Amino acid sequence: MPKHLPTHLDPRSPLVLDTRELPRRPGVLRTVKRVVPAPEDLGLELIGVPVGADLSLDLRLESVSEGVLVSGTVSGPLRGECGRCLRQIDDSLTVEIQELYAYENSTTDETTEEDEVGRLQGDLIDLEPALRDAVVLALPTNPLCRDDCPGLCPECGVHWDELPADHSHQQIDPRWAGLSQLTRKEE
Ligand SMILES: [Zn+2]
Ligand SMILES: [Zn+2]
Repeated sequence: MPKHLPTHLDPRSPLVLDTRELPRRPGVLRTVKRVVPAPEDLGLELIGVPVGADLSLDLRLESVSEGVLVSGTVSGPLRGECGRCLRQIDDSLTVEIQELYAYENSTTDETTEEDEVGRLQGDLIDLEPALRDAVVLALPTNPLCRDDCPGLCPECGVHWDELPADHSHQQIDPRWAGLSQLTRKEE
């Protein structure tokens, strides 16, 4: 019996890997290729993988002495908003995953913390936490529609791309201009 993990994983869940077909003999390999719907909130505030979008998993499961090493890539579309001009960003993302999952009651299970090394739950692996970490680490906290996006004019909110080069709001009212001359005289 697992001592600290609830066995709540559903083997039919798209981000759960079933290792029953993987003999517990070091060196044995299985590949997993599948397209799964992206879970909710996969990303950061301004950019992420849209919920339900196709995520392609291209993974290798390898038996090691105390567990299963999962490595490979996950790719999918990205949707976001430019941090400077708020234009929509459409992009794609490919991240590398490499994570060790220890067998229950193995020495690794007994001697490491769960946040250092993942755990199998029975024959199942929950890929979602590692996937989230990899995606979030790969995303920019301040995404841009393009590297040199000039952003918006702070006065009128129009994109600098759509404004003439000499666009300015510093039109000095003639009356104020007179006043500023007056102040200068007093100095
Ligand atoms: Zn922009
Ligand atoms: Zn303006």
